[in-house]
Amino acid sequence: MNQLRKGKVRDSESLRGHQVAAATAPPIDISQALEELDWIPRPRLLALRRLGIETVEDLLTHFPRRHEDRHQFPHFPREESDVPICLCGEVVKTSVRRFGGWKKIFEATLEESSPNALSEPLTCRWFNLHYVQKMIATGQHLVVFGKPRLRGKRICMDHPEFEVIENDEEISIHFRRITPIYPATEGLSQRVLRSIIYRLLNEVSPAHPELETLLPAELASGERGDAIRAIHFPESWEARDAAREHLVLSEFFAMQMLIASRRSGSSTRMGEAHCGSGTLLDKFLEALPFQLTGAQSKVIAEIRRDLAARHSMNRLLQGDVGSGKTVVAIAAMLLAIEAGYQAAFMAPTQILAEQHYAVLRRWLEPLGIRMALRTATRQEDNACLLLLESAQIPGSARVSRVGDGVSPSRTFPGVKPAEDARYSRRRLPHFEKPWAIYAVTIGTKSRRCLSPNARKIILEALLHFHNERYELLAACVMPDHLHFLIQPWPKENDDAGNVIFWSLRELVHSIKSFSAHEVNKIENKKGAVWERERFDRYVRSDRDLEEKFHYILRNPWDSGVAQQNEDYPWLWTQDDEARKESSFRRDVETNARDARATQRNALARDNAPQVIIGTHALLYESVSFLNLGLVVIDEQHKFGVAQRARLTAREPAPDVLVMTATPIPRTLTMTVYGDLDVSIIDEMPRNRGKIITAVRDVSKLGEVLSFLRTQLEPGRQLYVIYPLIDESEKLDVKAASAEYELWRERLHPYPCEILHGRISAAEKQATMERFRRGETRALISTTVIEVGVDIPNATVMLVENAERFGLAQLHQLRGRIGRGEHKSYCILLTSDQSKETSAKLAVLERTNNGFEVAAADGELRGPGDLPGTAQSGLPALKIGNLKTDAGLMRRARAAAMSIFEADPRLELPENQRFRRLIVEQQGRTFSNVS
Ligand code: ADP
Ligand code: MG
Repeated sequence: MNQLRKGKVRDSESLRGHQVAAATAPPIDISQALEELDWIPRPRLLALRRLGIETVEDLLTHFPRRHEDRHQFPHFPREESDVPICLCGEVVKTSVRRFGGWKKIFEATLEESSPNALSEPLTCRWFNLHYVQKMIATGQHLVVFGKPRLRGKRICMDHPEFEVIENDEEISIHFRRITPIYPATEGLSQRVLRSIIYRLLNEVSPAHPELETLLPAELASGERGDAIRAIHFPESWEARDAAREHLVLSEFFAMQMLIASRRSGSSTRMGEAHCGSGTLLDKFLEALPFQLTGAQSKVIAEIRRDLAARHSMNRLLQGDVGSGKTVVAIAAMLLAIEAGYQAAFMAPTQILAEQHYAVLRRWLEPLGIRMALRTATRQEDNACLLLLESAQIPGSARVSRVGDGVSPSRTFPGVKPAEDARYSRRRLPHFEKPWAIYAVTIGTKSRRCLSPNARKIILEALLHFHNERYELLAACVMPDHLHFLIQPWPKENDDAGNVIFWSLRELVHSIKSFSAHEVNKIENKKGAVWERERFDRYVRSDRDLEEKFHYILRNPWDSGVAQQNEDYPWLWTQDDEARKESSFRRDVETNARDARATQRNALARDNAPQVIIGTHALLYESVSFLNLGLVVIDEQHKFGVAQRARLTAREPAPDVLVMTATPIPRTLTMTVYGDLDVSIIDEMPRNRGKIITAVRDVSKLGEVLSFLRTQLEPGRQLYVIYPLIDESEKLDVKAASAEYELWRERLHPYPCEILHGRISAAEKQATMERFRRGETRALISTTVIEVGVDIPNATVMLVENAERFGLAQLHQLRGRIGRGEHKSYCILLTSDQSKETSAKLAVLERTNNGFEVAAADGELRGPGDLPGTAQSGLPALKIGNLKTDAGLMRRARAAAMSIFEADPRLELPENQRFRRLIVEQQGRTFSNVS
């Protein structure tokens, strides 16, 4: 460092005559604009600005891209190498060759400074770079960096990075050291940039207070100021690595502190719990024609916990295409709805919004849920319809719905219960029959109205001797009366050894007296609670039993006490018991809480939709949510953090569930999605038909076509994907219709239709609908079909020019098939026989697992920018690399999380210094870190 400080910084053209006066100059302010330094010439300032460098700090943190060891250079190579190397030599010859008219190749031949007998000259070549020709002349010494290649007999380097060695006083900055190579720009050579940074480092004290080290001690030792010096001009490779680690950790730590504060912000902001007791959910699950996979159940439990907590949920649900995320989303929505909230479901495209609307209607309408579709072109509401239904025929029997609380096996569409709501008075049976089942109704005295708590107590009273003195089959506590189905059990044997049953009279008496006492206590009242039994009879047949059963469980809705869409908590059936086993008591409690939520909830009265389905435009249009409790966002990768923030900024904050089929690498879930908790569905439904993927050369089209027919014949449907990869790519409508005509002929007589981005939304929708209904058998489509489309009967996908698609996209496309029980086939047609294409497409033949596809994709493509970082709202990284520095990211994350865990508001004195790391929304959030 000493030697470094002594070195005079002098740019031969621009800094001439300027004396370094580090000792006497006023201290430099880190945030100071570079203009104020007065030793950087104006043209340089402009060039720096092009690199986004405006302040002292920007320049100090303009980190080297790499370093070159310029202590000594290796001998010129005689072989090719895939690793770029750094060489030094003298230019012995230059020449310009023309080819193809105006094109030029400039060549410079270099010889080693201390050649030996085996030395070969090196030819450096630049194509069409006029300025290079002006910079290089015979006699100069050059440092070049690039990959040596054998061209004929010559060793060549094409387009090497180069630097001309000038024998000036500055040589110590640029040579005989580990030299930094910067991301450069036009008008600013490595040399000039290096000189400027060198001088700047000399003027800024490493102990500058603004270079404070903002890292917890356990993460890294050393000081930030020293690390900055060492990253630019390291004394050794070890020093360079240590400095880099320090700076990467600072950068990652700052990022993780911001993420941790986002998380902590949303978890400390108290919102409301958005979770019902699960009665609606249970009904939904019972009606499903399949069992949830273990992974689905696990994820639903995780979501349920989040919904029930008072802080807001921010959860990312990852699951491969077809893993059944929609069911999970519905489960979450039902829990929120039951607690009295609205749920919004957002899809990335209109087709998907429409599809979700159709799917959700199928599942949710039977539960009496009011839904609305909101897209640019369609606004549909099923809410009004239901309103009419319930308003016009109050108390009458409805068509059976799963929402009635009757398990589907016990519903009897069309069976009308007793018409007379005023039951005729009858006496208790005159005789008791062994194993008889009775339907009993008891009214309250003077039609006294029972509070929710009283109703809860009565249910408990009914259950008190259940399975001890009787079996209770079903019960419903209405505001002023009570229905139940009961089967008395044996009580004792008489002297003769005959079985004596509990009498109904005894049982009813104990139920009444037990509950009356408790009800009066809780309501602070005295006097009779119950009237005499008003209605009872023993059940004569199974059919009779079912009718009674049905009647009791529908009573709250039929009599208008509960709204159609509403849950009625004081219902109990044996099915409930079997399902919930010991958890009944807890449920009674939550039911009571839900009842309160429902009562104060305006939704039920206003008939506002409970589920709103739309595109992401829901965010921007003035859709008014009345009481938004949950937002489900499908296909997250098309949805940025900023948009998510728009949602969560609402007061009170809704819970947010984002779903994606794109496997997200760990590094991203630590960063871009770092403020989300992650749930993973890592298991496919078992009933899936297999998907077989095959790559075929176009020359085999004939065979492929006859195969397609073997599938169309038994009724399957087919997607043909043609390669208009990007919908923004200009669509040649003529080409599309030619494509269509071709396929119509090929598949004749099976009806086909075409789908692409230029077709109007309404038409698209109609086309999809016809395909869904099976009226069209093949859909010739661009990738508008890509995400989420769910048509189980479509089992074949043919992708034309498969080489033009990315692996991830092909996997997404393939996810459209294999959704039913039939075996599915994905045929990838290609005419490209290159190694790369074969390797790529072979991945899909090998595996159906999205995570494996993603891993293979990452390897084939090599490191590159990870997707989604731009939308993360996180500052761009200056030195860290998400891919290669994952280990450091983990350490930084753990440190940040533990700080926030112990001190969620950063109030402890030792944490004060970290506060400056997390000033959100100020544009320069992280600039003070790295
Ligand atoms: P994705 O995760 O791609 O969104 P979907 O939710 O669209 O998947 O589900 C794909 C298909 O699988 C749907 O037809 C759905 O009804 C069905 N499905 C979901 N869960 C199961 C399951 N546990 N068993 C059988 N089929 C299921
Ligand atoms: Mg989906």
